[in-house]
Amino acid sequence: MSFNEFGLKDELLQAVEDLGYVTPTPVQLEAIPVLISGDTDFVGLAQTGTGKTAAFGLPLLQLVDFDDRNIQGLVLCPTRELCLQITDDLLGYAKHFKRAYIEPVYGGSSISNQIKQLRRGAHIVVATPGRLIDLLERRALSLDSLRYVVLDEADEMLNMGFQEDIDRIFEFASVEKHTWLFSATMPNQVARIASNYMTNPVEITCGRKNTNATNIEHVYFTVRNDTRYLALKRIIDFNPDIYGLVFCRTRRETQEIAEFLGKDGYSAEALHGDLSQAQRDSTMRKFRDKTLQLLVATDVAARGIDVDNITHVIHYNLPDDPEQYTHRSGRTARAGRSGVSMALVTSSEMRKLRFIEQLTTMKFKQEKVPTGEEVCDKQLLSLVDKMRKTDVDPKAITRFMPSILASLEDLSREDIIARFVSSEFNRFFDYYKNAADLNAAVRERERSEYRDRDRRGDRGDRNRSDRDGVRGGSRFGDRGDRFERFERNDRSERGDRNDRFERSERRERSDVAMKNIVISRGERDRVNKGAIVRLICDSAGLNKRQIGEIVVDSDSTSVEVEEMFAAFTLQALKEARLDGKKFKAEIDETVKKKRGSFTPASN
Ligand code: AMP
Repeated sequence: MSFNEFGLKDELLQAVEDLGYVTPTPVQLEAIPVLISGDTDFVGLAQTGTGKTAAFGLPLLQLVDFDDRNIQGLVLCPTRELCLQITDDLLGYAKHFKRAYIEPVYGGSSISNQIKQLRRGAHIVVATPGRLIDLLERRALSLDSLRYVVLDEADEMLNMGFQEDIDRIFEFASVEKHTWLFSATMPNQVARIASNYMTNPVEITCGRKNTNATNIEHVYFTVRNDTRYLALKRIIDFNPDIYGLVFCRTRRETQEIAEFLGKDGYSAEALHGDLSQAQRDSTMRKFRDKTLQLLVATDVAARGIDVDNITHVIHYNLPDDPEQYTHRSGRTARAGRSGVSMALVTSSEMRKLRFIEQLTTMKFKQEKVPTGEEVCDKQLLSLVDKMRKTDVDPKAITRFMPSILASLEDLSREDIIARFVSSEFNRFFDYYKNAADLNAAVRERERSEYRDRDRRGDRGDRNRSDRDGVRGGSRFGDRGDRFERFERNDRSERGDRNDRFERSERRERSDVAMKNIVISRGERDRVNKGAIVRLICDSAGLNKRQIGEIVVDSDSTSVEVEEMFAAFTLQALKEARLDGKKFKAEIDETVKKKRGSFTPASN
């Protein structure tokens, strides 16, 4: 079926052709014939990226009377970003109409300018709910002539707490209107809107309810918390052409990871609510233009991000809400493409992963964090491939060729290739030559617990796992294995200190929360900083980078360790010896701080 068969006006058909749309997407096939009749309410379950803007936009533009200067169409959406995108799309579809006024109104931008624009008249308003209420209360616009309301990404609007605003907007709107609702999922709240504000809506579902798009591959990597960032870098390095969205849970973590990546030479920036609107706009512009390869974002900031061609969504942390996982991963594989959603999961987060699996009924595939060698192979091939595809401008290069050839005369073809490749590749190779295994084993006991749970049909029995020591005891039962891994990492990553990829491990991590451990030995016992570092590295398996400031007093020493290792370190110190003697160690709960300045203690 083609767009011609919907009975759309010539102006719209021309615009669709200009945009290069040939075949309607499934949601367009189902929605356009229903909506174009103009006499029904409508509920469409469809993900972003399925072509739903055209699915409601084309019928809306078909039905609006452009000779009437009153507002006839209203599109409500959750974010400013989406508001601008929808407006752009609608303007694109409407470009062959002589007079089609479509105005975006959204928060975070001058209300007086928006009022001015509205005074000139608008046929369709695209709005975020909060700003629209402001404008309605100031009587800057009227919805008395409204004929169609579109609620786009209704589940997102409700997630963001816009329920009351939507109710209020409906109080202002004409009773004659029809309501068209689009949502990726159908939680109860959305169903309630449908029942409150609609009469016998036609319902369509594109894709299964509450599930992910099928062209997304879902994979997870089991990692340790302290090497999560290294695993992230490795995964990025293993995908040289990645154009990705990295999700973190908090604004601080988002900022931190984006900064780490930036310092380590990646093209990455943060998007979160602590940034100014101008900063966010600039970051989004770069991401959209693809001058930025990685966008590190919080869930809230990423709402409404509607960028095509995102190849990978990376969950640096899993979201707490399984539905959020659907929203996150739906940012890839848009408009019929495929994409990969990758989650970094510690062994204690496996429960959450299974929960998401069950709720969304999709399957995750476990993959191994690539080894250094695998990353090198991949990078090398990508480099060679890029070299092969590089456009050579004969005009520019011909002049230099004789002297280039003369200076390379003594080298064989193989030599030349090896040297050119190495000049680009050596830094990678140096970084990865001794790289540690970053895969964390999922403890066998947990694995069998999941198996049992699956078999039992998820009757999740907490007491059982506590009794078995999955939470408490096994942490220490696991210690030998854990020490071995720490040592292996430290040893294998010691040799390669010298390039941009390595910086993050040696960097001052000024924001990491630290705890102070006080040890009952000091100068009088001939203790020095080096001895303390060796003690902690040997007994608790930490590496130097996880140890902060050390202050040796006459009969005690205080040493900072990263907060997440403090309890574990204390436990290990209780069994350790200094100069063959036991000593006391305790956490100083009165001091809890961020690492001041990292003083790398030397042995
Ligand atoms: P949407 O779900 O409306 O955000 O659309 C996702 C992307 O698909 C946008 O870039 C649209 O321009 C594009 N698109 C929408 N409909 C079609 C179509 N029928 N053929 C090709 N691309 C489309």
